[in-house]
Amino acid sequence: MRKIEKRTVFCLILTALLGLGLALFCFRFVMDGGDWASYPYNRHLYDNQGRLKGGVILDRDGDVLSQPAADGSGRTYYPDSSVRKATLHAVGDQAGFIGSGAQTAFADKLSGYNLFTGAYSPLGSGNYLYLTIDAYLNNIAYQALGGNRGTVGVYNYKTGEILCMVSTPTFDPADPPDIAADDPAWEGVYVNRLLSANSIPGSIFKVVTLNAAIENIPDLFQRHWTCTGSVDIGGDAVTCPFAHGELDIESALANSCNGVFGQLAVELGGKTMEKYTDAAGLTTAIKVDGVQTSKGSFSFDGTDHQLAWAGVGQDRDAMCPINMMLYMGAIANGGKAAMPRLIEKSSTDYGLPTGVYFPKKSGKLIEADTANTIADMMHNNVLATYGQDRFPGMDVCAKSGTAEIGADKTPNAWFTGFLRDASTPYAFIVLVEQGGGGSSVAGTIASQVLTAAVEKGY
Ligand SMILES: [Zn+2]
Repeated sequence: MRKIEKRTVFCLILTALLGLGLALFCFRFVMDGGDWASYPYNRHLYDNQGRLKGGVILDRDGDVLSQPAADGSGRTYYPDSSVRKATLHAVGDQAGFIGSGAQTAFADKLSGYNLFTGAYSPLGSGNYLYLTIDAYLNNIAYQALGGNRGTVGVYNYKTGEILCMVSTPTFDPADPPDIAADDPAWEGVYVNRLLSANSIPGSIFKVVTLNAAIENIPDLFQRHWTCTGSVDIGGDAVTCPFAHGELDIESALANSCNGVFGQLAVELGGKTMEKYTDAAGLTTAIKVDGVQTSKGSFSFDGTDHQLAWAGVGQDRDAMCPINMMLYMGAIANGGKAAMPRLIEKSSTDYGLPTGVYFPKKSGKLIEADTANTIADMMHNNVLATYGQDRFPGMDVCAKSGTAEIGADKTPNAWFTGFLRDASTPYAFIVLVEQGGGGSSVAGTIASQVLTAAVEKGY
């Protein structure tokens, strides 16, 4: 009798384990089935050179950016080579080196895989994946970068749609060059600089210091400073390119005075500066339709002198451009913005939707009152320093940055901000590596791209 009981218990345990295993398999099948099916060794989906066979990638208004070649030899791309280069990092390359490109990152959505019919696709071309970008706007941005390394991002902070995402250096995916690993001309060519590359932010970071100062220094707007071009902080000089003279906080921002913002950072203290950098979302990686971005950092060695430089965005600070663009969206949108996204819609080759893509809001990145105050001050930057005539008809708020990257190197140029217009709610960021002046170089690119974006309207 006892033997039978033991066997029953044993059988029950086995059954339970089997059930548990089955449940785990079903869960993994539902969650990861697309990844399993789109594994590069699946010969139904990839040819013998590892090239994705199925799936058509289109931009937001239906321009085909990448599709399977009619003769089965890999993929074909947009007819114009400049557009192909401008959309490379959004679309991806045949070899799959650009991991964040749609051909690789969204392979499961392109293959035509679904839970019920697997990777079977009746018309044979796989799914249609519409990206949120506009190939036309990408091409404007690529041309405006003029052969420089950098990135241009524009996104709708109400809907999250990324309208422009260009990263350079780039190449023609229809005719990929031989790239030696140590060739400086191709440095970081497979990295999408908008999503996956941290850079020293320079003076665009002063917006974060301003954010902290507004909320922690009660008499900030009554204060006055005299900039002589250099101020001793922590036993060493923090310098400006020239003496800015008499300043209040508004003109200190418009003139991007290192002395004023360095002193504010020290008065606020390292802990507060760290807290506000975190709250702005600049030290957290985000996911753009599943593609993980790189996370930034606020760092200094503990001395007041270092803290002052960190507070003006120099030295060791590191930011990912898309996080800064999201923070700009939050300033424009009363504290929270739509999370950036890249997939507009997807369907089978016979038109049936294969996914639902909707706007998701960020957490609160800044208090609403502070956001409105900063927006007004960033608009004043344009009126007082950058020039409203460069942005005709636009209610634009902006901050430039010139990031020192080494004594013998031309600095990186930044320009970031947003439009305050319900019909064109765009936040933007431009980085030109070793471009020189933020407003002159990166601001000019921003002006060209925003003019095109507003003209077309999305
Ligand atoms: Zn100054």
